[in-house]
Amino acid sequence: MTTAAVIGSGFGGLALAIRLQSAGIQTTLIEARDKPGGRAYVFEDDGFKFDAGPTVVTDPTCLEELFALSGRKLSDYVELISVAPFYRLMWEDGSVFDYSNDETALFEQIGKFNAKDVEGYRQFLKFSDNVFREGYQKLGHEAFLDFKSMLRAAPQLMRYEAFRSVYSMVARYIEDDRLRQAFSFHTLLVGGNPFKTSSVYALIHALEKKWGVWFPRGGTHALVRGMVKLFEDLGGQVRMGSKVEAIMADSGRVTGVRCADGWSGRFDAVCSNGDVVHTYKDLLSAHPRGAEMAAKLMRRSFSPSLFVTYFGLKGERPDVKHHSILFGHRYKGLLDEIYRGGERLADDFSLYLHHPTATDPEMAPPGHSAFYVLSPVPHLGKLDIDWEKEAPRYADSILDALERRAIPNLRRDLVTMRTWTPKDFQTTLAAHQGSAFSLEPVLWQSAYFRTHNRDDMLANLYFVGAGTHPGAGIPGVVGSAKATGKLMIEDLLARKAA
Ligand SMILES: Cc1cc2nc3c(=O)[nH]c(=O)nc-3n(C[C@H](O)[C@H](O)[C@H](O)COP(=O)(O)OP(=O)(O)OC[C@H]3O[C@@H](n4cnc5c(N)ncnc54)[C@H](O)[C@@H]3O)c2cc1C
Repeated sequence: MTTAAVIGSGFGGLALAIRLQSAGIQTTLIEARDKPGGRAYVFEDDGFKFDAGPTVVTDPTCLEELFALSGRKLSDYVELISVAPFYRLMWEDGSVFDYSNDETALFEQIGKFNAKDVEGYRQFLKFSDNVFREGYQKLGHEAFLDFKSMLRAAPQLMRYEAFRSVYSMVARYIEDDRLRQAFSFHTLLVGGNPFKTSSVYALIHALEKKWGVWFPRGGTHALVRGMVKLFEDLGGQVRMGSKVEAIMADSGRVTGVRCADGWSGRFDAVCSNGDVVHTYKDLLSAHPRGAEMAAKLMRRSFSPSLFVTYFGLKGERPDVKHHSILFGHRYKGLLDEIYRGGERLADDFSLYLHHPTATDPEMAPPGHSAFYVLSPVPHLGKLDIDWEKEAPRYADSILDALERRAIPNLRRDLVTMRTWTPKDFQTTLAAHQGSAFSLEPVLWQSAYFRTHNRDDMLANLYFVGAGTHPGAGIPGVVGSAKATGKLMIEDLLARKAA
C-alpha cells in the first residue's frame, strides 16, 4: 500500500489529504492542536462560536471539486449561505459603500461618489476579469518547480503589467480616493500591501464577483469539520493533538515522521502544511537541507500579523452587516507603518469587523450576537513589543472606535471577550515572526520564487498551504493542494509502477 503523511490540518493540508486519499493513497493527517483547521480554528466561549480566522469564503467551486473527486457533494456535508452585501465599507467622514456583485447597485453607488469613475470601474473590471482568467484559472494550481515554468508565464505577467501594484492599477482607472481604497484593499486578505502587491492580485475582485461570498452554516469551522468527515469517510486517518517534532530523512529522501507524544510512522511521502521556516528549521534540523533552506527563507519578507478581538454581546445588532471594513483616516501612511514596523504601534487603525450572527443566529445563544474585529499589525520581526502587556490597552482603543463608529453601547452589552496577538501566531501555530499569512505575496516571492511545492533535494518531501504557490487565502491554499496533490500522486504512482 502506498502511504503519505500530511503535517497540519489547515485548509491546504485538509484539501491535500482528501486528494491523496481519493487517489487511493493511504494518508495520515497529523495535527498538533486539539481541533483541526489551523488558522480556521474555532473558539467556543460561553455559548458563542467564534471562527478564529477565515470568514469570507470565495470560490466554492474549488471546495466542491474536492468532494466530487469521490463522487460526493459538498452540500451533503455543509451548507453554504450566500452573503450580501459582500462587505459594507465605512469611512470616518460617514460615507458608506455596500460592495456586492449587483452591478446596477454598484454603478449607482460609484456614480454618487464620483460620476467619472463609473466608466473607470468598467475598465478596471475588464482588467480584473482578464488577470483572473490567466492568473487564477490557468496558473493558480500549477507547481512552479523550475525557472522555465516562470519564463513560460512571463508573457502573461508582462501583458498585465505584473510589476505594477494593485493600487497603481486601480488608480489608473479610478479617481475617488475612497473608491481607490474600496477596489484595492483585497490584497490585505492574503497578507499583501496594495501598494506593493503585484497587479495580478486584482483578480480577487473578479473572483468575488463571479462566484460571490459565502458563509458556511455553523461557521467556517463547520466547513473544516465537513472536510475532515469527508477525509475519514474515504478511509483517511487523523491524529489530533500530536505535534510532529521531526521529519526523518535518509540522504536524498524522507522516510517518516516522529511526534512529540512518542508516536512515529514510516511513509512513502511526507507533506508539510506547517509554516515553511518551522518545517525546515525545526522538523528537518537533523538534515543539512533543513538549516540551508531555513536560512534562505528567513532572509525573505513575511506578511504582517493581525490583532484579533473576539466578543459576544447581549442583544441583536441588525444594523451591522456580516462583513464590514472601517477605514481609518490614513490609508497608505498606515499601511507603510504596518509593513515597515518601527518602535511602537500606530495609534490609528483600519478594521475588519465580522458579525456572523447577521447570517447565522446559531453562532451565539438566543438573543445574543457574536463578533470579531481584526486590525493588521507589524509582525514580530518588525515590531517586537510585549503583546501580553499591550493587548488589553490596544483592544480597549479598538472597542472605543467600534462603539463610536458601528456598535453603540458595546461595552454595556459585553458578555465575553478574548484576544489573539502576533505572539499567539508564533507560539500556537509556529508561524515565523508571528506572520498571519506566511511569505509576503510580492512578485519576487511568487510562483517559482515561493517555497516549491516539492523540495528540490529531498525527492519525496512536499509543501502545501500559504507559504507555497499560489499563496494565502482559502482559494489559494486549496489551489496549492491541487498543485502539490498532482505532483505527489504522479510521483507515488510512478514509483509504485517502477
Ligand atoms: C484572522 C484571519 C482572517 C482571515 N480571513 C480570511 C478570509 O476571510 N478568507 C480567506 O480566504 N482567507 C482568510 N485568511 C487567510 C487564511 O485563513 C489562510 O491563508 C489559510 O487558512 C491558511 O491555510 P494553510 O493551509 O496554510 O494552513 P494553516 O491554517 O496555517 O494551518 C497549518 C496547520 O499546521 C499545524 N502544524 C504546524 N506545525 C505542526 C507540527 N509540527 N506538527 C503538527 N501540526 C503542525 C498547525 O497547528 C495548523 O493547524 C485569514 C487569516 C487569518 C489569520
